[in-house]
Amino acid sequence: MSTDALDAPPTPSLRTVRLVRDVRPWGGAPVDLHLDGGVITAITPAGPSPAGAAEVDGGRVDGDVVDGRGLLALPGIVNAHAHVDKSWWGLPWQSYGGEGGTDGRIRHERARRDELGIPGARTTAAVLAELVRHGTTAVRSHVDVDLGVGLRGIEAVREAAAAYDGALHVEVVAFPQDGVLRRPGVLDLLHAAARAGAEHVGGLDPASIDRDPVGQVDAVLALAAEHGVGVDLHLHDPAELGAFQIELVADRTERLGLQGRVTIAHGFAVAQLPDAQRADLLARMGALGIAMTTVAPLRLPQLPVAELAAAGVRLGLGTDGIRDLWSPYGTGDTLGIAWQLARASSLVRDEDLLRVVRLATTDGAWAVGRDGHDLVVGARADLVLLDAENPLDALVRTPPRELVLGGGRVLAERA
Ligand SMILES: [Zn+2]
Repeated sequence: MSTDALDAPPTPSLRTVRLVRDVRPWGGAPVDLHLDGGVITAITPAGPSPAGAAEVDGGRVDGDVVDGRGLLALPGIVNAHAHVDKSWWGLPWQSYGGEGGTDGRIRHERARRDELGIPGARTTAAVLAELVRHGTTAVRSHVDVDLGVGLRGIEAVREAAAAYDGALHVEVVAFPQDGVLRRPGVLDLLHAAARAGAEHVGGLDPASIDRDPVGQVDAVLALAAEHGVGVDLHLHDPAELGAFQIELVADRTERLGLQGRVTIAHGFAVAQLPDAQRADLLARMGALGIAMTTVAPLRLPQLPVAELAAAGVRLGLGTDGIRDLWSPYGTGDTLGIAWQLARASSLVRDEDLLRVVRLATTDGAWAVGRDGHDLVVGARADLVLLDAENPLDALVRTPPRELVLGGGRVLAERA
């Protein structure tokens, strides 16, 4: 098996768009969005169709004008937790093998990834194209850094992302998937990754992987403080064990002045604590600006989105790895993850459904360091058009994405 078997992913047209006609932001009244320099510069009531516009299909680009034909417009989807370096998307089917459990999957991945060309720019490009096709305009991706691949994964992601010339916003978490302290040399690689421009540094289950929770949390957060980068820590450890490690992270966040720069990914423990203990923990996390991401795992209790919001804990949604050596599942659709979170949380009221759509778009944009990610004047022109009545309809049906613009340029068009 080699990546020769991999078809080249579609090349983004990156055509510049100046006018998006007749679209309904968040399901409201039809408007025209005027774009310049990659930014929304004006929003006016939808004007009359220009001559010849009837020949242009809805949501299609004609020159630098999009005829939206009344489609729903949402801000570009933000994937706050991806692993774009390690998928076999685009390659022939790979049978699931190896052992279960976090350590079992790590060993299996390290045994097989070379033959699949992982990490590599071609496989990464295939994943990015799939994310973009689903309306993603910004992604925070964990990228494996370990003694086997060093920083090659980060280089592959940078190379694949460069094809979008900045129209797709990609941030990297240098991710020690194989552990930190249990693998002497990995900490040095994380330092090197931060020096080379990784926006965040990661960690993984300090207690159950390194079996040294204080040591890993101390090392990773000190590294982040030294280099001025963010922290994004995978934490699968359950209940009390997980909560204990979040407390360790909170202590060091406060001591090192990392407020607003630390994320707990998964954080299953938060959903597993008694109510009073969870409320105290969330209050502390909110006060320190410690955010969370979830991939809405079907087999576990969901993070309580309303409680997080009430405590001021920012939340982002992500796809996690898709079709990789950990699991054959996943589609690259963060709106689909929003659907999964809403469905598994038994959310049915309009305001709760809207909250989840906002987490996949505007309210998840903190994950890529962006304020004001919305369909408003002055915002970067990242948007997705869908054939849906409103955001709630879009959430429950997850219809195809008709057109995706990043920084006012065409990232993807529905074939
Ligand atoms: Zn992950």
